Amino acid sequence: MKKWKLFILILVAFLLIFIFVTAFPTMTIDSKQPASQKAEININQEEAVKHLSEAITYKTISYQDREKFDYKEFDRFIDFLQHSYPSVHKELDVERINDYALMFRWEGKDQSKKPVGLTSHYDVVPVLQGTEENWEQAPFSGTVIDEKIWGRGTLDDKVGVIGILQALDYLLEEGFKPERDMYFMFGFDEEVGGDLGASAMAETLKERGIQFEFVLDEGGAIVENMVPGVKSPVGVVGISEKGSATAALSIEGSGGHSSQPKSRTNIGRIAGAIAKLEETQFQEDLKGPGEDLFEYVAPEMDFGMKYIFSNKWIFEPIIEKVLLQQPASAALIRTTIAPTIFQAGEQYNALPEQASAVINLRLMPGDSLEDVKNFIEKTIDDEEIKVEVKGSEATKVSSVEGEPFQTVQQAARNVYDEAVIAPYLMFAGSDAKHYDSVSDNTYRFLPVQITSEDLNRMHGTNEHISAENYINAIKFYVEIIKVSNQ
Ligand SMILES: [Zn+2]
Repeated sequence: MKKWKLFILILVAFLLIFIFVTAFPTMTIDSKQPASQKAEININQEEAVKHLSEAITYKTISYQDREKFDYKEFDRFIDFLQHSYPSVHKELDVERINDYALMFRWEGKDQSKKPVGLTSHYDVVPVLQGTEENWEQAPFSGTVIDEKIWGRGTLDDKVGVIGILQALDYLLEEGFKPERDMYFMFGFDEEVGGDLGASAMAETLKERGIQFEFVLDEGGAIVENMVPGVKSPVGVVGISEKGSATAALSIEGSGGHSSQPKSRTNIGRIAGAIAKLEETQFQEDLKGPGEDLFEYVAPEMDFGMKYIFSNKWIFEPIIEKVLLQQPASAALIRTTIAPTIFQAGEQYNALPEQASAVINLRLMPGDSLEDVKNFIEKTIDDEEIKVEVKGSEATKVSSVEGEPFQTVQQAARNVYDEAVIAPYLMFAGSDAKHYDSVSDNTYRFLPVQITSEDLNRMHGTNEHISAENYINAIKFYVEIIKVSNQ
């Protein structure tokens, strides 16, 4: 045989082996979605809509300045709940922590089982002054029009509070009794950190020695066209929250006249430091919740994407390059750097003696505040720039193995049978982190369909929800209570 013939033969053999080795995992990759067990749940839509609509009319607004809280509105809201859900208030124990945080306990038959907690919050963010006019329906009107409910809190997060209470009402009517203790915790200051609400409730539960199987809060939702390569809707369940830190960079030194500048001015040095950080960036790595997300969606992708994701051991660098292209997917795989404040100078002909900048960083699970400081100092490589890092690290990463996550998945699939339910990493904060101390797992999922416009409306203008979406949320809460007690 000629040498070149042998060479081609070996090449073909290698190619075949490569195709076999890489195609095999693609062919055999199993779906991680449980079969939907869709059941008939007949929610009284008219009554449910009336309740959410009225809930919106109470101005339970959170302000950074706690003095500004109008507690009369919070009292009125709690009164409204008592009047609207008499059987829930009769059958469940209700406690008020710090007067306004509401904690309901539904006693289960089997006290040896760990309880499950569902949580949401009834405070809302203010409507920015001057933007009221831009609303199609007044923000605290709770207007119902064309099968949609309008107003602040329809998505974030009175839909959670009212959705859970409607579900409880439905289950009580049905004569349902839980196997395990069920807790329903409603915060009143989530939008300003949750210290008096969720945090205090978690503290109380901890003192009583209560440890949850899992706690479910708002967070991810059912989204479409947001996960690359997946055509079906994806329900993303947050299993961890990124940390949030601020790094203050500052330099002090002689200023001087602008007619004889030094070659390196204070402004130039801080600007240079930021430029270096943006240039370098934290190392990207598809791991943890980001990796989990793709493990759950990959089996549902078309062949090409499935091929790539089921052979991550070869393609990971390419996948990471693609994910880095979009800010939202880049944030999934690395700690992000966002310079938000830059201060220096007062006069056009005087070199400032000080310059400073603030950078907001969102930390991946595993990156500590210490790591961040070291990274910044090493990257900017300028000993005269003082670096101070403050903030919080990412929360613990909850498990996707085993029953707790499957319970959330199953309940979601029972309502949204076309959706792929997958874990992911949350970039924003929620009350969920407060429950990390009393729960083995904390999940973050608001069981409604959300578009990118909805995301802007949540803390912006024209927040509203369709009746269908809201009814699905109620059904989800019915399902999760049932599945948790099977
Ligand atoms: Zn919220």
